[in-house]
Amino acid sequence: MELRRYKDIIAIKISPDSTGPENYVAYHSRNLEVAEVTPEAFLEMTPITLTTSDAPEIENLKDADAREQIESWNNDDNFQGRHGEIKFGIRAVTINVTQICNLKCHYCAAGGDGTYGDPVAKISIEKTLPQLKFFIDQLKENQKFTISFVGGEPLLYTEAVLSIYNYVLDLQKTKNFHPIFSLTTNATLITDRVRDILSQMKIHITVSLDGDEKTNDIARPSKDGTSSTKLTESGLEQLAKIHNDIGSFGISAVSTKENMNVVETYKYFKTFNPDWYEFNFSYIEKNQSAQTEYLKQMNQIAKMAYTDGGEVALRKIKSFDLYFKLLDDQQRIENHCGAGKSYLMIDARNQVYTCPWVVGEKDEIVGTGAVLNHQKLEKYQKPLIELNNCQTCWAKYLCGGGCMFIHRAHTGDKHTKDNLFCERTRGLILTTLMYYKLSRE
Ligand code: SF4
Ligand code: SF4
Repeated sequence: MELRRYKDIIAIKISPDSTGPENYVAYHSRNLEVAEVTPEAFLEMTPITLTTSDAPEIENLKDADAREQIESWNNDDNFQGRHGEIKFGIRAVTINVTQICNLKCHYCAAGGDGTYGDPVAKISIEKTLPQLKFFIDQLKENQKFTISFVGGEPLLYTEAVLSIYNYVLDLQKTKNFHPIFSLTTNATLITDRVRDILSQMKIHITVSLDGDEKTNDIARPSKDGTSSTKLTESGLEQLAKIHNDIGSFGISAVSTKENMNVVETYKYFKTFNPDWYEFNFSYIEKNQSAQTEYLKQMNQIAKMAYTDGGEVALRKIKSFDLYFKLLDDQQRIENHCGAGKSYLMIDARNQVYTCPWVVGEKDEIVGTGAVLNHQKLEKYQKPLIELNNCQTCWAKYLCGGGCMFIHRAHTGDKHTKDNLFCERTRGLILTTLMYYKLSRE
């Protein structure tokens, strides 16, 4: 694949197969427009790579008409869509209902064992309910409010999930807002009781699983070192039985250089017929060739999905769905996530953070119970694309400045970008642009 850029426009030269003609898919990054350019216009642009963040020097004129075509599209300023500003106002929280886990995944960011260095078996419901009321009281009429349950393994304390759900539904009797519930689990503990609770909540469930037994056992053993895969598979079968009663369920895999098996995992996930799948590259993985292989395999599964079932099948893969949606909605994002602006994390001691992965770090606490430290939160209020210096990146309105946690894990600073992350994100966006063009033709 050959990639070129001219000011705010990038273009990809695609040779679909040996019989089809070459085509040139271009993306106007300010206007979120995808279109075709002529081969001559493509040649007026400057070659770049996935690691190039800045607009390159403009090359010498080769074809005046083609240059005028590309220059005129670049100068078009017809963005009618939505801008990505996020004003402070908490509309989503994640709650650690427990900080212990029955697995011990090698890449676990929660202190390596789900405890974040502080093994709290049960969150205090008495403290959590008024804390949630504090956030809900501040919602505007009709606003959505997302509550995500994680841990540790949240199904080690499912009764807390149910108590919180019942309480929030009670609050709805006096306040007009729309709660959305979600839960991330390893699905090894789905008993009949758990199934009943999940069904009545209409909850959206994410199951963490890296692939079939051979792949999953590499990094996701039980605490005692034995395989956890069969238990998760049986949990997925239980979830399939209540598929119509819950909000949705998806499966989320993490790839590292040890378990780079995206294509096989994609085929395996399809057998459970979930609503979506996600294939993440481990946030701590630093291996460049593993990432190159990951992007290659992500391209392969995109092709497999599109060949099998067109846009619908492709969009079951979460990252591609996100970019399709942003392009369709003409929605620029200026913040990769709402950390500290619209989103907060509550640990099992009711301390508040901006991100799930900084739980346990004293300097990162931005509140306790219903008291927020607005002075600390102030530094999160600028758009992330500005805080992270992404102004010259062509991918900025689909990426939103990237994940501060991944940046910090690689560079030591939340606002100093991780080059691997940028390359990976741009690679996935390019794949999406090619299929977006194909789908909308
Ligand atoms: S973090 Fe995202 S927006 Fe920022 S330079 Fe990297 S890819 Fe571009
Ligand atoms: S900084 Fe990264 S890990 Fe933290 S909330 Fe944002 S996207 Fe999630």
